[in-house]
Formats: sequence, C-alpha cells, structure tokens
Amino acid sequence: MFINESESALLEKFIKASQDIGKNKAYVQGAGGNTSLKINEEIIAVKSSGFELADISVSQGLSYLKYKEIIDYYNQNPQTTSQQFNEVVYKSASQFNNFKPSIETSFHCLIPKKIVIHTHSIYANILTCSVEGKDIALELFDCVWIPYKTPGIELAIEIMKALQQKQSRIIFLENHGLIITADSVEEAVNLHEEVNSKICQKFNLEELNNNYEILDMDYIRNNILFPDQIVYSTTDKFINTKAAIEVLTAYSYMVNNIEKCNLTLKCLDKNHVDIINNMDSEKYRQSLIKN
Ligand SMILES: [Zn+2]
Repeated sequence: MFINESESALLEKFIKASQDIGKNKAYVQGAGGNTSLKINEEIIAVKSSGFELADISVSQGLSYLKYKEIIDYYNQNPQTTSQQFNEVVYKSASQFNNFKPSIETSFHCLIPKKIVIHTHSIYANILTCSVEGKDIALELFDCVWIPYKTPGIELAIEIMKALQQKQSRIIFLENHGLIITADSVEEAVNLHEEVNSKICQKFNLEELNNNYEILDMDYIRNNILFPDQIVYSTTDKFINTKAAIEVLTAYSYMVNNIEKCNLTLKCLDKNHVDIINNMDSEKYRQSLIKN
C-alpha cells in the first residue's frame, strides 16, 4: 500500500484511538462497532468484519478500500442491493488484503468526513432503544436521528438522506448505536466522549462494571433491542463466548437503566429480526465469533 510518512503516522494515531474505544465495553461489545479513516484522497481504512476494535493493527483486522470506487458505484447504481454492493466492497478490499470489510463499510465510505466512529454505546442506546429517546436526543444534541434500518446499504442510504437535510457530526441510529464524524482523530474522540458523558449526566447513569448481572434468557429472547443481540438470542451455540457475555451484559444494563430512567423500552419488530437472521454477511460474522 502506497501511503507516505505523515499518512502512516495518522493511521497509527487512528488505530490507537480505535483500540482505546474498543477496550471500553460500554462502547463496543464483541466484534461490534467500527471506525474508519480516509487516509488520503484514495484509500479508506475500515475495521474488518469479525474482528474486535481493540485488536486492530495496520496488518490485522483492518480492510483498505479505494473509497472513490465505492462512491462512484453507489452514485451510478443508487438502487443497488446489499448483495451487489457488498460484492463491489469486497472486490475493492481484496486489492489490499484478505480481510472482509465490516458490513457497515457503506456509510463509512459515503459520509464525506475523514474520521467516522461507530459504536454500540450502552449510554447512547438507552436513547436509541426507548420510545422517548428521539425527543431527548434532539433536545440534548445538534444531531440527526435515523429510524431503524437493516445494517448495510439500506442504513447507509437512510443516513445520506438525513445528512442532505441536515448536516451533523452526531448521528443516532434507532435500535442500533451512535455515529460520530469529524475531520481529525482528536475531534472525533472528544465528541464521542462528550456525547456519552452528556447522556450519563442527564440520567445520572452508573458505570458499567464487569460483573453486571445478565437478565434471564427467556426475557432476552422475547425482547430484541438491536441487531448484534440477535445471533445470541436465536441459538445457544455462542452463548458462553466472550462476545456473547459482553453483548448480553450491555443489553441487560440498557434494559435496567431504561426502566430506571422511566423510559419505555422499544424492541425491534419480528420482520427486522428475520431479515438479520437471513443475512449472508451476518452468517460470515457468526463464523468468526471466537471463544
Ligand atoms: Zn453497528
């Protein structure tokens, strides 16, 4: 890969910031969440599918793509399906290494900002998974609220539509998570921290501790809140993995605190759960879940 010295230093700084966010289980759980850096006018680095954010390095768990190719493809094929779009994404990434880019690569490429941080923050998700959350988010922040869409090109299109109406560096994804965009690593990290602490202050939220008690599995299966929960709720196969424990701990914290804050839980409907269960890219991700 041809990047110069200053681009390489920027990439290292971005990786360190991504690892730090990845180490905080209140922000990302298992292989969820992803970050990207548009290294120069040509190449974007984005977290690969199935890797934990805390573990990425220049040569491990990062995919590289020629993002202009992706943007051009999308502009010429705005009706593209997820499958067609993913093929273009995988092909572009395969020029650099064998890691499959995150299924959320679409919005990372399309959002015209140098840095994109996407987390499944338990604090932001108290808002995104409650009926009252949208109004509270719009009152607290100069932000954009995206109604639930399946992760992938469908979600990316919705985000781009919303950003055309209103430009914002803070994007809440209903029943999913948070996106922060910025032109520098510092700006992105600070803004991500600021948004999360403001939510914590607003509701006087306790910090997530390692021994947080996981709710009953029957309850979890009957109250699906976000896409990453689905794989652990539909099969017992992964239930004792580190990723499952992290995701279900985050889930339990959210459910308990939504109740404590007198908010109303908003679950994903069955149609959306079925769509995730049938996604090929999700099956790929499941195959990479480590113990
Ligand atoms: Zn996500």
